[in-house]
Amino acid sequence: MKRIVVLGAAESGAGAAVLAKVKGFDVFVSDMSSIKSKYKSLLDEYQIPWEENQHTIEKILNADEIIKSPGIPDKAPIIQKLREQNTPIISEIEFAGRYTNAKMICITGSNGKTTTTSLIYHILKNAGCNVGLAGNIGNSLALQVATKDFDTYVIELSSFQLDNMYDFKADIAILMNITPDHLDRYDFKMQNYVDSKMRIIRNQTENDAFIFWNDDPIVTKELKKYDIKAKLLPFSEFKGNGAVAYADNGEYIIESPKSFSMKQGDLAIKGKHNLYNSLAAGIAALAAGISDEDVKKGLTTFEGVEHRLEKAGTVNGVEFINDSKATNVNACWYAMESMTKPTVLILGGIDKGNDYSEIYDLVREKCIGLVFLGVDNKKLHENFDGFGIPIVDVQSMKDCVKECYKMSKEGSAVLLSPCCASFDLFKNMEDRGEQFKQYVKEL
Ligand code: ADP
Repeated sequence: MKRIVVLGAAESGAGAAVLAKVKGFDVFVSDMSSIKSKYKSLLDEYQIPWEENQHTIEKILNADEIIKSPGIPDKAPIIQKLREQNTPIISEIEFAGRYTNAKMICITGSNGKTTTTSLIYHILKNAGCNVGLAGNIGNSLALQVATKDFDTYVIELSSFQLDNMYDFKADIAILMNITPDHLDRYDFKMQNYVDSKMRIIRNQTENDAFIFWNDDPIVTKELKKYDIKAKLLPFSEFKGNGAVAYADNGEYIIESPKSFSMKQGDLAIKGKHNLYNSLAAGIAALAAGISDEDVKKGLTTFEGVEHRLEKAGTVNGVEFINDSKATNVNACWYAMESMTKPTVLILGGIDKGNDYSEIYDLVREKCIGLVFLGVDNKKLHENFDGFGIPIVDVQSMKDCVKECYKMSKEGSAVLLSPCCASFDLFKNMEDRGEQFKQYVKEL
């Protein structure tokens, strides 16, 4: 019996283990950290042996194939050992893709993945499709393939998942944009990260579709290197340059794969970045055969996603906005770009090799205060101290919200869009966003 070892037992690892077991493999799960109780129960339910807080080398090196969780870096000693002996290492998505013929709509990019994925799912679900949501959101693809029978999956793919995908094919691939992110995992070489994102078009044929942002200089440059067989469906903020979807004179217009239009003002989610997300989602839904009426309905009724420019309340005329998910500079740029009020901006956390110059102009133009929320705010001070804008350092969300409120005035806004990961002071970005909302409520 072929032996599959799953490294990492969170959502994707536990799901992959269940699918491997259901498909009759000899499965073992190993995690260097402790495994959450819900995943332990799932593994026990399927009688899958597991270990936590260690990797027992001899139980891993004898695998025929490894399924690696996206969180484990290639530099991890166990991965290096497996590479030395040429053991195949794949991702959970690659594995799950072997056991389903469902249509795959896959979304990647540096920013906008979750919003676009959720929006496409919303449109398809409301149109009555038998559709599953997978990848970085909800249940893993593998668990759903093992236990459900969907005709279509909408899958959010990170670069880490794409890294270990080889034969998997997206029927509809979407590349939102490529801007620097996670460079710490790519030897600080942008090209390595770009190459990873471009894997979204791997194995596509002339029957497939590739949707991408036409105005992204990195994406358009990369495209020249590939012999792409899929139907190209570029979208843009403006008409022209070959874009098949764009906004023009207040109209949201799609020309291909079929002609469609509606009022831009009727789109449920606002801001320039959300126009991009809505364009990508609209094209994908039409390419998936959804009717005009259902596409329109989905685009106008979508409620947005938590922690993404989420309204967190208004206190004495000061509006609080939770954009905790903005963990890189580009995401913050779009958040700042959408701000129409004088803004107190909260920055800080774990910097992933950030270049803050991208937001200098917007900070100068719109910020009335900066609050640095992190254990180490040195780099932020180096970048922003010369701006003549009041700055406060804080080390907890409680103090952060209090200081932001003091710095703001009626008619202004407080924006948590920190450009950084959250792990220095919070469990994760959700915890950071929840705490923000909680302390705003307590003001
Ligand atoms: P991801 O899943 O790729 O991290 P999200 O949809 O969760 O993307 O959005 C993360 C943040 O990125 C949002 O809070 C918003 O500020 C910004 N953002 C959303 N969509 C886009 C886009 N298309 N282009 C640039 N930034 C975006």
